[in-house]
Amino acid sequence: MIKDAPTVAIVGAGPAGMSCANACVSFGLAPVVIERADHVGGAQRGNFHENLWLLGSPGETGEALTRRLVTHYGRLPVPTHVGTTVTRITEDDAGFVLDLAPPPADGTRVTDADQAAGTHRLHARALLLATGMRPRATAQLRALAAHSERVLIGALSDALRERVRDADVLILGGGDNALDHALFLAERGCRVRVATRAGFSARAAFLAACAARDDIELRPHAAPIRLEVEGERIRAVWADGTDGMHDWLLVLFGYQPDTDILDAFTGVPRPTLGAGGHVRVDAWQRTDVPGIYAAGDLTETPQPSVAAAIAQGLAAARAMERDLRAGA
Ligand SMILES: Cc1cc2nc3c(=O)[nH]c(=O)nc-3n(C[C@H](O)[C@H](O)[C@H](O)COP(=O)(O)OP(=O)(O)OC[C@H]3O[C@@H](n4cnc5c(N)ncnc54)[C@H](O)[C@@H]3O)c2cc1C
Repeated sequence: MIKDAPTVAIVGAGPAGMSCANACVSFGLAPVVIERADHVGGAQRGNFHENLWLLGSPGETGEALTRRLVTHYGRLPVPTHVGTTVTRITEDDAGFVLDLAPPPADGTRVTDADQAAGTHRLHARALLLATGMRPRATAQLRALAAHSERVLIGALSDALRERVRDADVLILGGGDNALDHALFLAERGCRVRVATRAGFSARAAFLAACAARDDIELRPHAAPIRLEVEGERIRAVWADGTDGMHDWLLVLFGYQPDTDILDAFTGVPRPTLGAGGHVRVDAWQRTDVPGIYAAGDLTETPQPSVAAAIAQGLAAARAMERDLRAGA
């Protein structure tokens, strides 16, 4: 790494953040990555399905693809803080100041003055937001999930999917992900009820495959009027007066941009969001706040994918390098 290279803070270590870090290194910038999860890799880390969208790696699952990206990333000279959140973002004369929690271990660009003051700060000339998407859910369902480990919001994790066997499962949601999970669980001996408030929007092949099975019940235009955790099980009460007990409840309502990071902005203008809650960017991933860039699923991307996130991370790094040179 070039001595005294400008520091770039990258929030989120999915494909967009990792790609930006990789490109920053080759463009003579000094990236530091902050990742909230306890591992890098992003959304595809637990995807056991074949990735059909990436030319050049036929048959490769999302998990395997992520392993490849992470292995390469791990060889880069990039300080990376996993299990870390940015609690506050402010500005000083030199750029952005990020307060990190918990305090970073070795390798962080914390100044001597900060260390002496007992603060844990990262000073950066530019900032990339690459926090991706998070599963959608109502506040009531989030509260239920906080109460029971058997209420799951978003796709089944690799740790859990082997545990859900020979069980009664209620899935809320009507898209590809909901029906894909129903088929996966039915193959593992589960009896699955899939309910969606509107009609099913999943692709025809998934619908036909689910409809052909006795162990999957599809309920369009239906949503439980009440959900209660009773011991290890979940009771769903329906508008027709019936109720049912389930071992697991999966909420698969799709995804929304994860903009939690904007809560940390203090005295720094927040980038403008579009109608869908995505961070607005130009063709070079610049937001409307100078020095702040965004890439990947957090931005409005025509076809969100690993390939698009990698390309956007690269473009953001190039824009940062040009903008920092122009402003130097
Ligand atoms: C069900 C599903 C199936 C998909 N299938 C495919 C497919 O087959 N092929 C394909 O190419 N793409 C697929 N995608 C899309 C692909 O996963 C995304 O486009 C890609 O992961 C986007 O990369 P990203 O870096 O923008 O975000 P992510 O991969 O979501 O990474 C964001 C990272 O930011 C971290 N983060 C979030 N908030 C904070 C914070 N406040 N502070 C620090 N870190 C934070 C997260 O923990 C995460 O590690 C699929 C997506 C879904 C949901």
